[in-house]
Amino acid sequence: MSTPLLSFTNKGIYCAQADVFIDPWQPVHKALVTHAHSDHARMGSRKYLAHDQSKEVLKLRLGDDIQLQTVKYNQPLSINGVKISFHPAGHVPGSAQIRLEYKAQTWVVSGDYKLEDDGFTIPFEPVKCTHFVTESTFGLPVFNWRPQSEVIEGINRWWLANKAEGKTSLIAAYALGKAQRIIQALDHSIGPVFVHGAIHNVNEALHRNGIKQKPTTLVTPEIAKEAYKGALIIAPGSALGTSWTRRFQPFAIAQVSGWMNIRGIKKRRGSHQGFVLSDHADWKGLVQAVKWSQAENIYVTHGYKSVFSRWLREQGWNADEVETLYEGELSEGESGTQV
Ligand SMILES: [Zn+2]
Ligand SMILES: [Zn+2]
Repeated sequence: MSTPLLSFTNKGIYCAQADVFIDPWQPVHKALVTHAHSDHARMGSRKYLAHDQSKEVLKLRLGDDIQLQTVKYNQPLSINGVKISFHPAGHVPGSAQIRLEYKAQTWVVSGDYKLEDDGFTIPFEPVKCTHFVTESTFGLPVFNWRPQSEVIEGINRWWLANKAEGKTSLIAAYALGKAQRIIQALDHSIGPVFVHGAIHNVNEALHRNGIKQKPTTLVTPEIAKEAYKGALIIAPGSALGTSWTRRFQPFAIAQVSGWMNIRGIKKRRGSHQGFVLSDHADWKGLVQAVKWSQAENIYVTHGYKSVFSRWLREQGWNADEVETLYEGELSEGESGTQV
């Protein structure tokens, strides 16, 4: 048996032949980045390679002075004989599955992904390989998403009802991905949409990257309180437990996350309402992606990795769980109000 092209080290996923790391969690000389969430794109590496649409958000988060090379999807480049290409992961703008091919081995490191087309992010593309590295954030059969259109319909209805009661609607959503997806899908004829600074900064970065979005207004101290009546505000969850929300009173709060699928979590997180919408694949999505890959070898990273890898082994795959420092959707690398 030939040596595996990729290995799992204490710094991250490593390709010795090309001498590059994928989503390393420690500073390295060259990092290939699947997407700009901060548990996958960490500071301190000397060089970065990422997808075009990750460019401005990476600069926003890691600093303007990073050494960053970007590529488009399906545009292979070669490093010491290893053919490397990026393919849509459908997770957030700029998210990629990274494919590495050398001799008879083809590896795909999928990063975070979802299969549903959200109408905003370039949709997931199945990529065949011999070795497939998959997340398992929602790797339990209980996670079974409803279509986005249904969830958004529910949010629109909730917003309308709040408006009828003279309340402002506050939505907790991650600053990269979830927030933009909701902004795009909502019915803006209901009322104005405002955003927190952390989300505004990401919107601006995506705009610089040429990604078009529906217009929103940044919440500032100068805006009169009355302007928020019947409006919808999108902010990172961490901002909603602070005095920042005082200006919106009276208001209703909703959390939009895959974790809303689990009873009790919305209570613990102090939300009045929960909508189940995730930027990660649900159980069926994970299984589908593994099937599409046609890989014999599956490596399961962050999430319910023991459950999912065991299930895969029972179905006849050669599946292993792998220790990484990636986090799930609860944090999505956005625990603070920082961008
Ligand atoms: Zn992510
Ligand atoms: Zn992740």
